[in-house]
Amino acid sequence: LNANAQAKTYTIATDTTFAPFEFQAKGGTYKGIDIDILKAIAKKEHINYKLKAISFGAAVQQLSANQVDGVIAGMNITPERKKTFDFSNAYYTSGVVMAVAKDSKIKNFSQLKGKTVALKTGTAGATYAKSIQSKYGFKIKYFNDSNNMYNDVKVGNSAACFEDYPVMSYGIKNGIALKIVSKQYEAGDYGFAVKKGKNAALLKKFNAGLKAIKADGTYKKIVDKYLHSSE
Ligand code: GLN
Repeated sequence: LNANAQAKTYTIATDTTFAPFEFQAKGGTYKGIDIDILKAIAKKEHINYKLKAISFGAAVQQLSANQVDGVIAGMNITPERKKTFDFSNAYYTSGVVMAVAKDSKIKNFSQLKGKTVALKTGTAGATYAKSIQSKYGFKIKYFNDSNNMYNDVKVGNSAACFEDYPVMSYGIKNGIALKIVSKQYEAGDYGFAVKKGKNAALLKKFNAGLKAIKADGTYKKIVDKYLHSSE
């Protein structure tokens, strides 16, 4: 047996619905920027892995409980999370926005008073909304995935939701009946995460592969395919 034949198969968790970073294509396979960059990096660095698509909150929890080896899910590198996880180099920059139903009259945080805001458990958007909740006096309802969160706003149960800008704008462009009514808050970088002090070899390979796919144009090709193609 050579080293490759014995190579470990890593379990990498991702979100269920977070287009264009990860989403289920027809037939059930996952695609998106995260999925494609992981695949390209794994190919360059000979990483064996299997994907595990679960809610973002569950992915983060399972990583901290050692039940998965890594998470790639448009996950922000934050000082708080760095206490529990080690992150790769940044691969994308994003901020949080507020979105409301297409025909809603709500334009700012003050108009949320007494209303319900839909949030996705464990996300940067939820953390931001919670930080302004007492100032603006809204109620919070949690969802495990982005689609159910959007839907609660669309049908009028919740007045607004908070989501990452590139994801919300991609969704709206692709038919989700919401609109963005705020600027971006809490701009931050996405990184691949492993549990702190664990899987250092995997993290090192991820960084080396990321550097390589940035240098050879693969990274740009992947991002362009999902965000700038004219189809
Ligand atoms: N970028 C956000 C975060 O890190 C949301 C990630 C997600 O919903 N997949 O919390």
